Parts: sequence; C-alpha cells; structure tokens
Amino acid sequence: MTAEAPQWMTGIRRRMDYGWRYRGAPTGLLSDNAIVLGGNSDESGQLMAAWGKGGFPAACLQCGTCTSLCPYEFAKDGGGFSPRRMVRETQLVYPPLEREESWLCATCRACEDKCPRGVKIADFMMALRGVEIGFALDTVPAGLRRALRNIASVGNPFGEPREKRVEWADRIRVKRFTRGMDLLYFPGCFAAYDARATRVAVALVSLLRMAGVDFGILGEDESCCGESVRKAGAEELYLTLARHNIARFRERGVTRILTTSPHCYHTFKTEYSSIGGDFEVLHHTEYLAQLVREGRLRLGASLRATVTYHDPCYLGRYHGVYNQPREVLRSIPGIEVVEMERSRGRSICCGGGGGRIWQGAVRGQRLSGFRFDQAGRTGCEYLAVSCPYCLSNFDIGQSPGGSSRTMEVKDIAELLWQAVCVSG
Ligand code: SF4
Ligand code: SF4
Repeated sequence: MTAEAPQWMTGIRRRMDYGWRYRGAPTGLLSDNAIVLGGNSDESGQLMAAWGKGGFPAACLQCGTCTSLCPYEFAKDGGGFSPRRMVRETQLVYPPLEREESWLCATCRACEDKCPRGVKIADFMMALRGVEIGFALDTVPAGLRRALRNIASVGNPFGEPREKRVEWADRIRVKRFTRGMDLLYFPGCFAAYDARATRVAVALVSLLRMAGVDFGILGEDESCCGESVRKAGAEELYLTLARHNIARFRERGVTRILTTSPHCYHTFKTEYSSIGGDFEVLHHTEYLAQLVREGRLRLGASLRATVTYHDPCYLGRYHGVYNQPREVLRSIPGIEVVEMERSRGRSICCGGGGGRIWQGAVRGQRLSGFRFDQAGRTGCEYLAVSCPYCLSNFDIGQSPGGSSRTMEVKDIAELLWQAVCVSG
C-alpha cells in the first residue's frame, strides 16, 4: 500500500519521518519511502508475526517514534539522521554500514525509552559500529580513532603521559587509596587532563575533606574506564581496560567507588559486574545529597541566584537519578532552581555520549547549542551540570538562538563548594 501524507499533516515538520502511529489514515514515511503502512492493528499484527516477536531489530514496527524523539530532530540543521530508517534497512538485510551514520548516535536512549517494541536502539548502533570495525571499514571518525589509539597506548583518550594523571591530585595532596579506606574516588580521564574538569574534582575533594570522608584515589594505576571504547564497538580494548581496573580495585580492597562522571558510573555499576567487578558505585551528586542530609557540610550565606539543571543521559535516563542533584542544589541557601524545557526523563543529550565527545561536531550537529539555548531561556544565572562531557560541551557550546552569554556553566560540586566558601 502506498499513500500520500494526509493533508492535515503537511507543514507540521520540515521532514517527516513518522510512521503508522497516526491512526485512522495511512501515513507515509516521506523522507525515504522505506515502508508505508496503514494504521490498523491487523496489519501491524501480521507484520509482527512475519518478523517474529522480540527479534532484534525484527521487533520494530516502523512507527517512527525513535526518529521523532532523537536529539538530531531538534538540533538546528542536524536532520537526516533516522534511527527508524537504519533499523528498517537492517531488517531488509541492507544494514547502513558505509554511510558513517551509526557514529552520530550519542547512545542517549531518548528513543528506546519510548519505543513501543522495546528495541534496544543504542545497542543496535553499537552493534553496527562493531561490524564496521570488524570489517575494517574506514568509517570510524578520525577524532574517535585517535582517542581509541591513545587509550590503547597510554590509558587515556587525550594521549597524555600516565604520570600526568595525578598532577592535579598531588598539588592538593590527595591520598592514594589504601585498604580499609571508606571510599575510592575515581576522577576519570577528564578530571585528570582537562583543566576545566579538574576544577570540579578539586571542589569535590574539598567537600569530602570538609565532611571528614576517608577516601583516596588509585593514582597512576588508574586507566580509562572504557565507556567510550565500548560505545565505539571496540569490545576487546574495553575488556582489557575493564579487567585492568577491576584487578586494581581488588588488589587495594576497594568496595565503594565515587565517580564524577556518569559515564564511569554507568560502566562500573552496570557493565563491570558482568565480568566479575561487583562494587558499590556512587555518583557524586548522590553522595553529596547524602552528606548534606547528614549535616556534614556547613552551608550558611546566600548565593542569591537562579539555577537550571541539565539531566545527563547516563545519570537520568540510564539510572533514574533525578532527585539527588536537585536536592543538593536546593540545599544551597539563596538558590532558586528553575526547570528548563524538557527536563528529567525528557532531557536532550548534550551530544557527548556514545564516544561523540571525541569526534568533535560537524556543522549543524552540535546538540549542546540547542540545549544551551533552552537553559538560557529560563533567564538563570547558572546552568548546573553533573557530567564532564556536558561541562565541556556547554562551555564551548554554540548558542544558535543567541541566548544570554552571561549564564555560567558549573558542576553541582562547584556550586556547593562556592556556597561553603561564601559562608566561611
Ligand atoms: S525502533 Fe521502536 S520506536 Fe523506532 S520505529 Fe521501530 S518500533 Fe518505532
Ligand atoms: S540513542 Fe539518542 S542519539 Fe541515538 S538514535 Fe536514539 S535518540 Fe538518537
């Protein structure tokens, strides 16, 4: 069956990539003509039977929900990326392997959270990448290829020497973790080598000291957690990194790990456990909320500012941590928290996940600019973040909508430490 889009749909979107979910009238997928279905459930049922239930990606009904929720749909001039079409091509045994599209996916899960058939779209993108790497197709973006090479040789994506990983910590005399300590702080590669992210680690260390927490770091023994590596489809390298870190954790008697990156957090909490690395893992916003609740931080004077908080995908959608970051912000005297459009589970990715942080952004694909403008429209003084990728992307984020450049981007730990300093 083929059909034109119904009259009432014209003009709704610049490019349509919807599907059969507009019931009552046949709906065309105009952007690529991959499939055209009627909206009745019998037809859908027949397709389900034909493709098999629960198959992957066979379960896809081509409803187009994924494409309509993908951040590339929102980003100015960033269109043309259609997860629905990619799944369809794979069903038709023509997986999109040579168009470099899979590398655009930020694995943010905005799509699969709402997929009516439970298709694991982010995993699907990673599988495509794994095939591309396996066949040595020349599609891996240059920046990501460089980051993978650096991680393989020196344990960090920046290509910096191992010794340099601890310079920031040694400057403020952070102890090495020893058996019996309460908490291992895993600052990760960004905190070690990126000057802006280092300031967040310093603020967090200051707060932990104020609260009397017994903690240490791995130091030179720390290697990249491997999150970007796995998302790039380089499974063997990921396993090498993961086994290295798990062995170091075990040797030192680590039981609890604190991270400042939701990406390390997700990897330790969810993925290391499948290869025998079972640890209690805390994100710093969770732990700071606990310290505030226990009254272990002295917050006195008022910051007198409005703040909006950007939910990072790997903390929010991946792990449901929405309340603790807001709880910390609301504990700061004088702070008013205002919500921007699409907060919590509907948050829009900054564009750094899935290894995209190492790829740079090509014109029209900087998702952070769009999100930065949404934050700017709240009129707040601070855009609060809790992820080094978001921090980096928003700090250099373009502002296509021309929002206020006076809005400062700060990690929640920095705002909390600022409140402590003001009160002291
Ligand atoms: S993957 Fe899910 S959301 Fe996307 S078109 Fe298929 S069924 Fe719809
Ligand atoms: S995971 Fe995010 S970036 Fe990737 S296809 Fe889904 S919505 Fe788009």
